[in-house]
Amino acid sequence: MEKQSQPGRPWGYRQMIILKQGGGEIISGASMKDVPNILWLEEIRKEDISSVGGKGASLGEMASIGLPVPPAFVVTAQAFRRFLVETGLDQKIFKVSENIDVENNAALEKAADTIKALVMKAKMPAALKEDIKASYKKMASKDLIVAVRSSATAEDLPDASFAGQQETYLNIKGEAALLSAVQNCWASLYGARAIYYRAKQGFEESTVNIAVVVQQLVHSEKAGVMFTSHPISGEPLTIIEGSWGLGEAVVSGSVSPDHYVFDQRTESIGEKAIANKKVEIIPDGSHGTKLVTVDAARQDAQVLSDGEVAKLAMYGKIAENHYGVPQDVEWGIVAGTIYILQSRPITTIGKKEAKGMSGQKNDAKILLKGQGAAPGIATGKVVIIRDVKDTGAVKEGDILVTRMTNPDMVPAMRKVAAIVTDEGGMTCHAAIVSRELGTPAVVGTKTGTQQLKNGQLVTVDGEMGLVYEGAVGGLAQAKGGTAVTAAPAGSGPIITATSVKVNVSIPEAAARAAATGADGVGLLRIEHLILGLNKTPGWFIANHKEEDFVKELYDGIKIVLDAFPGKTVWVRTLDAPTDEFRNMQGGESEPLEHNPMLGWRGIRRDLQSPDQFRLQVEAFKRLWKAGYEHLGVMFPMVSHPDQFIKAREMMRGWGVDVENVTLGIMIEIPASAIMIEDFLKAGIKFASFGTNDLIQYTIAIDRNNENVADMYNPQHPAVLSLIHNSIQQCRAYGVECSICGQAGSDPKMAIWLVEHGITSISANIDAIAKIREAVAKTEKRIILEAARNRDAE
Ligand code: PEP
Ligand code: MG
Repeated sequence: MEKQSQPGRPWGYRQMIILKQGGGEIISGASMKDVPNILWLEEIRKEDISSVGGKGASLGEMASIGLPVPPAFVVTAQAFRRFLVETGLDQKIFKVSENIDVENNAALEKAADTIKALVMKAKMPAALKEDIKASYKKMASKDLIVAVRSSATAEDLPDASFAGQQETYLNIKGEAALLSAVQNCWASLYGARAIYYRAKQGFEESTVNIAVVVQQLVHSEKAGVMFTSHPISGEPLTIIEGSWGLGEAVVSGSVSPDHYVFDQRTESIGEKAIANKKVEIIPDGSHGTKLVTVDAARQDAQVLSDGEVAKLAMYGKIAENHYGVPQDVEWGIVAGTIYILQSRPITTIGKKEAKGMSGQKNDAKILLKGQGAAPGIATGKVVIIRDVKDTGAVKEGDILVTRMTNPDMVPAMRKVAAIVTDEGGMTCHAAIVSRELGTPAVVGTKTGTQQLKNGQLVTVDGEMGLVYEGAVGGLAQAKGGTAVTAAPAGSGPIITATSVKVNVSIPEAAARAAATGADGVGLLRIEHLILGLNKTPGWFIANHKEEDFVKELYDGIKIVLDAFPGKTVWVRTLDAPTDEFRNMQGGESEPLEHNPMLGWRGIRRDLQSPDQFRLQVEAFKRLWKAGYEHLGVMFPMVSHPDQFIKAREMMRGWGVDVENVTLGIMIEIPASAIMIEDFLKAGIKFASFGTNDLIQYTIAIDRNNENVADMYNPQHPAVLSLIHNSIQQCRAYGVECSICGQAGSDPKMAIWLVEHGITSISANIDAIAKIREAVAKTEKRIILEAARNRDAE
């Protein structure tokens, strides 16, 4: 049972009922009385976001894992709601906001001012006032200087900062100033821009809440930022930048900071560059800060001691391990005490610099939200493509916006700076191809083609899945947010017992894929070679151009084989759903299917179209003959061992020495996971989980349907159970078991897979470094635990 750790925290608080109204989150009357006015950091978890807002929840989460966060409490969203109800403000605000025409600027500004004045004039209920005062007293015996920050609670907004103005009041001292700052934060919820934004997003004005964080102000003597892993390659190198005074100097780029690199593998400082730090930012008066010249003695002095670097790196690692992804951390040090002020996932270096350069990021208007499918940031002009015939209009550096990309759009996709689609999830065509091209992409925005206009300037953040209006803070970063390196100079490659392979779909990505140092190719999707020609396999056959088809396959596959000498390359036979063929020459002969995902694709199509299958096998045969023995063939969409046996027999009939080549299957239909032992008995040489499909077929969630994207769960127990069972069976038969679905690019899943005995993992190019690290760590941990257990016996 949960323990009451602070006064005012009632039992059963987590059982509060949340009602969803008009897109916003509101806490029901039943729970209103259960959630206290004040929550202390130590008792907050990230699930408490509807009570403490995004900022409060993230501070609480950091404190809960032992990071030294400055002491704080939160005036909850429920306290705000009590304030509104008890003062009758809820009705008054509702009256004013009910009829606002948000497109009429003057009317909007006037309404916003009226509401803000109402909030500021209202008398805070006595009980609430007492709670805030008592908590403030509890923080420190005498008047403590605090920062008071609003923390928006509308958690399903793309960026909660748009829900409220995120007003912050620094240097607040004394009860009266504190109470007024809290009320000011509440009023900031009703800024004109915030009201406009909420109206546009369909949020019920009457249901939006705000929490307020009251935190000890850290007047850092030295401060800065830290990337817990290398922000581009993902290597375990913690990068710390620090300077004198408040952290703003480093974040804003007004000073060249000291630069330290801490290598987590050797647990030592690898690099240290001490800068000449001419200026620092220090507190000024009651609210502000000022830029002053650093005294001569400190200008060239090392800001951080080696011990502080190591300690900061350790905190960074704690945060990274907890959140599962590398973090961008802000820190400060006062009188030798380190404070962690903020931690958020790293996006890219380009983004960070941009935020610092202009500080505009929070002001930029988000136009669209979708899934961040390929990392990187790009700014450019929108070009909307409604039909593949229009791709002629696409120019170098444009932002391609379309319902969904098709293989025949790939030439245009190569030119553009970023891609935005209405439909699709992390494994759709646009996502797969963009990742390989290294082009930022946001998929599944639902309304991109309707909301954006041709020629409009936008900035696409392919990591966060956001599209901003205009050029955001000059953060435009050319492609390359997904740059890859095998290992840092001088540190040697990370060797793992579990092979870490790479997925390739387009031959032009082969060199980038090989540069990761991957142990082979766990999936080469050859349909992209054919689809790029804009002709269906049926067209080649009907027009007696079989030789062209074979040559195209031969040449494309050869590029990848050449990039991975001596390493296995599993080439998958054709697996394109009929709708992907439809726009191409010959597409008119494709059957019209209601659900192509469950339709005529993969091995079932090849078995029924021997001509099509034979041409692929002909290309493989020629490659084997040319000495490319490291080529293995993988059959997709297999649901019964008979299909594997039949395919093998057909190959034998076409002259393939099937006993001596490597033939395996994808496990992407639950039937093949359930019947894995029969496949093993039938003689498969390897099996690879195609989790993109396995998940959709196991839990009945269309992988390309943005409406159910949030229910697409790679770690659904049923999926994990199928995977676990298959791995164990493969191990029993000594057969290589791998994964090539998108789930294999998630470090958390990789850890689980290694723990469950997988032989290899094939990930996306941009994920190799982090997967390799996750695998290496997990293996080491397993060995260590085994050794400890042995010692204990
Ligand atoms: C899969 O299903 O996980 C897979 C890798 O195949 P595709 O995404 O091409 O269907
Ligand atoms: Mg698949």
